[in-house]
This record gives sequence, C-alpha cells and structure tokens, in this order.
Amino acid sequence: MSATIPYGLQDINQADIDAVVEVLHSDFLTQGPVVPAFENEVAKYCGTRYAVAVNSATSALHIACLALGVGKGDIVWTSPITFVASANCALYCGATIDFVDIDPKTYNLSVDRLKERLEQAEQASNLPKVVIPVHLCGQPCDMAGIHNLSQRYGFKIIEDASHAIGARYHNEPVGNCRYSDITVFSFHPVKIITTGEGGMALTNDHQLVKLMRMLRSHGITSVAEDMHPRHSEELWNYQQIELGFNYRMTDIQASLGLSQMHRLADFVAKRLDIAKRYDYNLSALPVVTPWQHPDGYSSYHLYVIRLKLDKITRTHRQVYEALRAAGILVNLHYIPVYRQPFYEQMGFKAGYCQEAEQYYSEAISMPIYAVLTEEQQYQVVASLRQAII
Ligand SMILES: *Cc1c(COP(=O)(O)O)cnc(C)c1O
Repeated sequence: MSATIPYGLQDINQADIDAVVEVLHSDFLTQGPVVPAFENEVAKYCGTRYAVAVNSATSALHIACLALGVGKGDIVWTSPITFVASANCALYCGATIDFVDIDPKTYNLSVDRLKERLEQAEQASNLPKVVIPVHLCGQPCDMAGIHNLSQRYGFKIIEDASHAIGARYHNEPVGNCRYSDITVFSFHPVKIITTGEGGMALTNDHQLVKLMRMLRSHGITSVAEDMHPRHSEELWNYQQIELGFNYRMTDIQASLGLSQMHRLADFVAKRLDIAKRYDYNLSALPVVTPWQHPDGYSSYHLYVIRLKLDKITRTHRQVYEALRAAGILVNLHYIPVYRQPFYEQMGFKAGYCQEAEQYYSEAISMPIYAVLTEEQQYQVVASLRQAII
C-alpha cells in the first residue's frame, strides 16, 4: 500500500531553510529585526496599517479580545463551526461565549441568524461586546453585512482569518480590516503559510496595536511617551503598564514566515487548482462540493464535502473510517464547539444550532495542500468512490 495522505501538509523549500539558517547564524534568535520585517510584509500584503506577530493565533485572539476591552460581564459571539480557540479566547478574558448558527451554503456564521439574535438580545439587554466571524475553509464571511449590524448594535469585530491569509473579499485582501477592528491569522503548519507555530493580529487602529504589542510582552513598554511620569532622576528604561504575557514570536519563526510570504500567491493558486479538480471529479458522486459566494476568493485552507446520506448506504462514520483505513487521513472541521464536553458542562445542549449540527453530521475534509500531487488526488477520489458505495 502507498504512503498515507494527510488532509494538510506544509511546503518547505530550500529558500525557507536558508532563511531560518541565516537567523540561527545571526545575533538575535528573538526580539531581533526579522519579526518586524515579517509584520511589515504581511501588513503591506493586506493593505493594513499595523501587524503584531505572536506565538499562535490562539494568543492573537486572546490579546485581540483584551485590547477591545473584553472582560467579566461581557458577551462574545462566534460561529459554532470553528476550532475551539475562536470561543476559548472569550473565556480567557472572563467573558461569556455564545454561538450563532451557520449559513447552510457557505458554512460561515449566518448574517440572517445574527440579525435575529441581535434583535432578541437588544430586547433582553444582553448584546454582545464582540462578534468573531470565522472565514471557514478560507471562504470570506459576509463582512459588509456583519459590519452593518455592528454599526446598528454597537459591537466590535474580530475576524478569525486563521484559514484565510491570501483570500480576497470584494477583491480586496482578507486582513485589511475594512469591516473589522482586528483580523487574526494562524501560521500552524496545516494552514496556508507556516512559522511552525505562530499567529498575527492586524489592525488599522493606533491604540489597539499599542495595547496588543504591550500584551504580547508582559504588558511592558519601553516607549517614553507611554510610560507613567516618574521623578526625573530615576532610571526607567521600561515600565509594566498592563498584565501581559509572553506571547512573542521568535526571529527564527518569523524568518520562515517571511520566506513563506513570498510563496503565498503560489500556494493559494495551487490550492485553487486542487479544489477545481475535486469539483470536477466529485461532480458525479453523491456529495455536496463547497459552494463559493461570488463576493469572495477562497484561500482553500480546507476542502469540505458533505455526504448525501440518503443516497449512500454507509453512515458518515463508516465513510470516514473507510477513508482513514485506506490511508486517506481525512478529517472533520468541525464538531460544533458547544458540543465539546467542556462546553456542555457550561449548559450548552445538543440541538442548539440546527444547521451546524446538520453540517457536522455530513462533513468530511478532503486532503488539500500545495504539495498534493495530481496522482495522489486521483487516489483520494478513487478511495472516496469506493468508501461510499
Ligand atoms: C488553527 C486555528 C486557530 C488556532 O490557531 P493556532 O495558531 O494553532 O493557535 C484558531 N481558529 C481557527 C479557525 C483555526 O483554524
């Protein structure tokens, strides 16, 4: 049997390796010049004023919430179909989390449901402070719609774009924060570009970036104008202003990220080719292929199919397991977050978001990554065909 095919895999070339080695030979492994160079490159690519590199997207989501003032007594809303980190960030801040059901076509947070829930929340005086839309699979959410509602109901927006660097919305890069306060990217190896572990928060707001930079490094500043006044004879080369963390990215990681940024357009183009090939080769099978909203250009972090279970004799679980047994390491993105035992303990119940649960009962993530060969892809399709007979 041939080697297994994962659902996601990084693509590291010699230039990436050389960039990392160069930092290893330099004076700074961390807090050197490469982190700001990487931040500038991503900010420039997205057309955003500021970027703050951190050690994960999870950390970026945490400091983004804190910078927007999320704390005890506040409410944050996100999509149930996401990685747990999109919800956990609110809980880190002592806030309450809630979930808004998905759109059955895009699988992103539904703007219609959001509108309904906001109308109810206004009546009940429990409006959210922050809403975190997630660009699932790399397909942008209806950001103009969400932004309109934020103007009416006064909430802030963090885009969880962990899947979506390189994606476009209304023909502009995701990450430019045109419709949000902060956008977050992930550089985990299964994502579009990688730094091993890593993340970034982007914003156009001077105050937010200042706070996030402090929070990433213990709440400390060494900028004179941000320090509290002290007796002029005392030496203060830095001050701790906030309770922050050590969420810093290293220069080693940033050098890999900077090198990968030069390959981003190529990575996304390759993913799009793979997606098109799946669209074509799966069209005759009893599965729903990903529907693309005309407003967006997906970075195709994931290619999720939905099984038409009424046309298949096998169950969702049987198809999933048959593919895994055949060495196709398909995955499931995602189990609705509130169905996790930790969230059920908080009182969430099965059946809370109907569309999300329907999606979860049929979804399978097919392998998609830049170095997936055409031959491997045909093997995947053949295995799926066999698995659903
Ligand atoms: C991967 C991911 C995260 C977390 O990213 P890390 O960099 O691993 O912390 C958050 N949200 C979503 C939607 C993700 O896919």
